[in-house]
Amino acid sequence: MSIVADTNWRALAQSLKPRNQAFINGQFVDAVSAQTFPSYNPANGQKITDIAACDAADVDRAVTAARRAFESGVWRDLKPLERKTILLRWVALIREHQRELALLETLDTGKPIKESVNVDVASCAAGLQWYAECIDKLYDEIAPNGPSSLVLVTREPIGVVAAVIPWNYPLIIGSWKIGPALAAGNSVILKPAEQASLSSLKLAELAQQAGIPEGVFNVLPGLGHQAGQAIGLHPDIDAVVFTGSTEVGRKFLEYSARSNLKRVGLELGGKSPHIVTEEADLEKAAMYVAYAIWYNQGETCNAGSRLIVQRGVKAKLLKLLEPWAERLAPGDPLDPTTEMGALISAEHCQRVRQYIELGQQEGAILAIGGRQLRPESGGWYIGPTVLDRVQNDMQVAREEIFGPVLVVIEYDDLEEAIALANDSEYGLAAAVWCRDISKAHLAARRLRAGTVWINAFDHTSINAPFGGYKQSGNGRDKSLHAFDKVTELKTTWLELH
Ligand code: NAP
Ligand code: MG
Repeated sequence: MSIVADTNWRALAQSLKPRNQAFINGQFVDAVSAQTFPSYNPANGQKITDIAACDAADVDRAVTAARRAFESGVWRDLKPLERKTILLRWVALIREHQRELALLETLDTGKPIKESVNVDVASCAAGLQWYAECIDKLYDEIAPNGPSSLVLVTREPIGVVAAVIPWNYPLIIGSWKIGPALAAGNSVILKPAEQASLSSLKLAELAQQAGIPEGVFNVLPGLGHQAGQAIGLHPDIDAVVFTGSTEVGRKFLEYSARSNLKRVGLELGGKSPHIVTEEADLEKAAMYVAYAIWYNQGETCNAGSRLIVQRGVKAKLLKLLEPWAERLAPGDPLDPTTEMGALISAEHCQRVRQYIELGQQEGAILAIGGRQLRPESGGWYIGPTVLDRVQNDMQVAREEIFGPVLVVIEYDDLEEAIALANDSEYGLAAAVWCRDISKAHLAARRLRAGTVWINAFDHTSINAPFGGYKQSGNGRDKSLHAFDKVTELKTTWLELH
């Protein structure tokens, strides 16, 4: 049976009662101030619920609980096998509740239910499982220092880790932060984005059922300038692991400098170049170009948003994109066949429309889409859009639109393509399409991006690091390298005689 096709999602949505309180020290509680903020369904513009709006007082409570749990050793001093077993129980519960989690993610973010089930919930469970399984397989080091010294290099949890995440992939990005932090033995405070808190609160409920001790995992919904800022400035948080915009990432560095110099790991924005040469398999490239920009409504940090295409094949490639644009036309996110859903909010939809306007004022030609769709739904939909004849110095080529808008830039030789690709403040991802693998690989070496795909886009796995060069951030999520953000290395030097 197919869970996506065989579930009556609308009926399930009717009976759903999303959690809307904060989760602190093992309990669901209102904010100290009793304030709330509304959460909307982007598919129809209707309010889902009012959620506890945590601020500095709640952050303080959560940090106190998290610190107490950390110092008590109730989590970090468990035998590795025991910590692993509890996390794997959590993973099993996430899989058991996949329908509800997927539905919460779709109602909150507007993304298609098919993707929420098959990608978001599945990747969250797989990611947490991978880190749980690492726990009893990671060994420390002995530095070679001759017969009379024993020099141990051990990894220790850093302490209290706050994860601050965006609204586009709450479950997936959440798992990239929570997985390594909890596996390493830290206490964790998760702050979801105000537009999409519901799946994080469900994760908290399941964490409690799995037996994660109180205070070890906390979820604080709230607004960025309240809960987020209080986290950034708190003197007793040891590390913040952040994913979001470059603008807010910059703020977290300032908060750190103004408070306790807490460690700040940043996964930020992107304007990823997708280079298509005349030596590419154009049919295949077209499909990847389409999904690279239109998957998740274009609300993806590493979206392939700049198509850099060799002049001789541009017309053919754009023609090949047309059927994909039709196929990916937005629909009701709860319909199991929908491949593109709604944009996160009315403001964001307006912002994307303004960029489409701006591009045309700058001299670009609207080749596909560009209009707001499905107005009768009350939701916020824009279809697959292509702006042709873009120059790399236009605002639409430099700034992250974070919507389904592809900008098309032409080039003549590969040197020029690489220069255009690297001419960006960002460096999160890039791709090259070229059947000549040596040529493609030489280009890949010179692209300044954390991930470079050759003859693919967006192929990922939890064991491959992910993160950015330049203003796309620092440090890496995923893979064993993610432990660097949430652990300290200790050198213990022992003289034997
Ligand atoms: P955002 O506005 O930067 O928000 C991210 C998080 O920071 C949210 O939890 C937000 O809370 C909080 N925040 C906002 N203002 C804050 C402040 N003044 N102080 C402390 N915290 C604050 O980003 P977004 O709009 O949610 O997501 C879109 C951005 O994320 C894009 O730029 C995208 O490229 C980036 N992104 C990057 C990656 C990656 O891995 N590199 C992945 C996904 C997304 P509120 O929700 O309450 O504002
Ligand atoms: Mg919402």
